[in-house]
Amino acid sequence: MDLNKPLGMSLQVLRTPEKQQTVIKFGDLCVGGHGKVIMAGPCAVESYTQLDTVASFLKQYGVQVLRGGAYKPRTSPYSFQGLRKQGVKILHEVATKHSMLSISEMLDTSFRSLFEKYIDIIQIGSRNMQNFELLKLVGKMNKPVFLKRGFMATLEEYLYAAEYIMLQGNSQVMLCERGIRTFETYTRNTLDLAGMVLLKKYTHLPVIVDVSHSLGRKDIISEVTKAVLAAGADGIMIEVHNNPAVAKSDKFQQLSLDEFVGFRQEIAKFV
Ligand code: PEP
Ligand code: MN
Repeated sequence: MDLNKPLGMSLQVLRTPEKQQTVIKFGDLCVGGHGKVIMAGPCAVESYTQLDTVASFLKQYGVQVLRGGAYKPRTSPYSFQGLRKQGVKILHEVATKHSMLSISEMLDTSFRSLFEKYIDIIQIGSRNMQNFELLKLVGKMNKPVFLKRGFMATLEEYLYAAEYIMLQGNSQVMLCERGIRTFETYTRNTLDLAGMVLLKKYTHLPVIVDVSHSLGRKDIISEVTKAVLAAGADGIMIEVHNNPAVAKSDKFQQLSLDEFVGFRQEIAKFV
């Protein structure tokens, strides 16, 4: 690979002298501009009360984008699969109530109209990064797409996945580094910090880091967040739950509301 020009050809995702930076605008909020965005919320929407509690709290701390999985891609079929359609509707209702934007994972092409109606930002999960029909479909939707890096994907494969979306006419694509699988076990995935910087260098797309899924733990989340923001990430995604101990998924990595307050203070110089 030509180190200065990945893929050896001019793809739409690549930064050029004419196309330096994509900025995705949602009213006052600009992703990819000078500011940094915080996308936060529980791993999964579990109930209206749970999400409303978390959202009203996060809103007070300036969080503008509310996350919550409704269709959960779980490793085990015995694990909580999400509230599905009801979860999408709860996320919409709560986000609207608090004037926040909603982001949720669209697992399958068949959910297009549901997501089109209720969700502001369409998340494509790590496990679906190379679901090419799904990529083509969201490329035709008139909604920003948050494309997570596959945990087994090279940067080159990731760039091609983003290209699939852009080629269909959707230029509102955000990239998300969420850690890749390595031999290391002390973190759930290995955060590819250099890869994140290279995505910024090579593409004009906003790049967000999901610090929660990268780490799978929360004791070092402030330090790691400071590092990714200092290195140029356009923002972070982080999981926050009102009672992580009883969360239906990812209980070890979700911050409690109190922990979020401490976290927010720790990273204040960077965002
Ligand atoms: C998520 O953000 O809810 C999620 C499942 O993440 P990933 O696709 O990165 O594993
Ligand atoms: Mn999760």
